[in-house]
Amino acid sequence: MKTAFDFFNNYLSQNIIDSDILERMHDVIAEFSARAPKMIVMKCIDGRVHGSAQKGYPPTSVVYGRTDGNKVSLEKSNFWYWNRIDRVVKDAYFNTPLTPAIFIAYMHHSKMGLGCASHNSNAEEALKSIEQQMKEVRATFTESELFVLGGDTETDAMTDTLIFMDGTRIDSAEIIEYCNLKNPIDVFHQAFTGKKIDDIATCRNIGHKTPKELLSGENPIFFSNLDICLNMQNYLMHTITTCVRKDRSELYRFIRPDILDLIFDKLASVSISENLLGPLVYQIVWNIAFSLNHQKLISNMSEAEKIAQLDHAEELACYGDGFETLPRNKAVLVKTGRGNDVEALQVSKNVLQKNRARYHQDHKLLVHINIEVNGQMTRWDDFNNSVGSRILTMQRNVENVFGEDVAILTSYSYRSQKRFYPLKISRSDSRLVYPVDVVGPINSRTKFSNLALNAEEALYRMGFFKK
Ligand SMILES: [Zn+2]
Repeated sequence: MKTAFDFFNNYLSQNIIDSDILERMHDVIAEFSARAPKMIVMKCIDGRVHGSAQKGYPPTSVVYGRTDGNKVSLEKSNFWYWNRIDRVVKDAYFNTPLTPAIFIAYMHHSKMGLGCASHNSNAEEALKSIEQQMKEVRATFTESELFVLGGDTETDAMTDTLIFMDGTRIDSAEIIEYCNLKNPIDVFHQAFTGKKIDDIATCRNIGHKTPKELLSGENPIFFSNLDICLNMQNYLMHTITTCVRKDRSELYRFIRPDILDLIFDKLASVSISENLLGPLVYQIVWNIAFSLNHQKLISNMSEAEKIAQLDHAEELACYGDGFETLPRNKAVLVKTGRGNDVEALQVSKNVLQKNRARYHQDHKLLVHINIEVNGQMTRWDDFNNSVGSRILTMQRNVENVFGEDVAILTSYSYRSQKRFYPLKISRSDSRLVYPVDVVGPINSRTKFSNLALNAEEALYRMGFFKK
């Protein structure tokens, strides 16, 4: 029998592995981010649209807002919603001058009828939610600050449609069909796939393999190996943005010409900042390749495996920020910022209960609360303001919806690190099944120091290596 403790223990050990890769890949991600625009994405809490893998953006490079069905209160009093956008807009203003930040509000639908639960699979209603956001956000910021887009993910194939303010749509599925693409390798030009990568650093990092080698096999390491995937994201963002700025014809030696012609043809009618053109071409090209890989993986699966991929199969609810390293369809994600967290938690509970009818769990429903912090916490008050007190406020909302019948993991993580550090604020709460409390030994003004905290964090991480 698998207990909630076992679940969280496996879950945390996977998180240690993933966050270690991110740490090792820090320079690669920083290089990617230096060329990419700052991006904020608003999404549904559905686990099938989790993460930024289909957009080709590494974890930590996108800021997310997530609410059920992407419904939000657009009142200016909704502090969390507007503040999240302000954070990204100001990040762009000061750190990527002359390149506006990108805002995308995503809906999702499914050809198989497994659409957005929050909108009862009604795609028109889902579209209304994102259109309202696009309109209100467009009216609030200038075009030089923020480029506003809508998006629609088709969750069976994981193709994205980008929806521009003037109504222009660029649909990866349409390009796949028009260009008759079958495999991810079809997206690229043979002149690129057959040779070793021209950039020596990337070439080393991917073990001197050709793109063709990375893209071969049933589950190509181009996408399945996080190290290689991050390196290829960085390389392609670099190459595509440079070619678009320097000489567009050079791009035709990397990407298949008919695909590029279609994309440039569509983009020609849209008013778009010059510095965003390259990143958008990259994003569309990546999504086409990603979707082809996803479709190929699905086609090799058994019927049961297929359903687990295409329909809801989330195992837990995650409440807060910092869950980007989790795989797709692992968790229902609830973020603050809708104006009503309790309602979003209620939707997540319903999804989990429905999933448990198909995928049996021996233990209670699972909720993971995580607080993401930006910098170091030097004094106990820093810790209490940004983590301790917030955990309690969020735990109260979880209690409101789940009552006693739930197993909870509470943790914090650093924005650049994505490693969950478990802690217990209300120590006698039996719902907190995970026993580690990183802050426990130092949780008072007299004992707390940044050095002591970092030491406790290192001990926690080491504990997993010893196992
Ligand atoms: Zn949804």
